[in-house]
Amino acid sequence: MITEQIQLCDGDIVCLCGNEPYLNGFSTCLDNGTVVEPDQHGEWGGTLYICERCHRIIDQYTGIVAGVATDVIVAANNLWWAR
Ligand SMILES: [Zn+2]
Repeated sequence: MITEQIQLCDGDIVCLCGNEPYLNGFSTCLDNGTVVEPDQHGEWGGTLYICERCHRIIDQYTGIVAGVATDVIVAANNLWWAR
């Protein structure tokens, strides 16, 4: 698998799909892409964001794409976002 690298512009993520924070945006997530509250002391590890357009899972510090959320995870996230 080829490792993808996201550009970081002044700390802002610009995804390979063209998504940026002011467009579809990004959500804090677990390493499988499950969206969680951005709580440093909760489930979130403080590192990963999921792109809300293409569902790539992105390390906010290195810009490395850790993976892509599965359809099952994305469907669960859609329910989360609808809350
Ligand atoms: Zn994306």
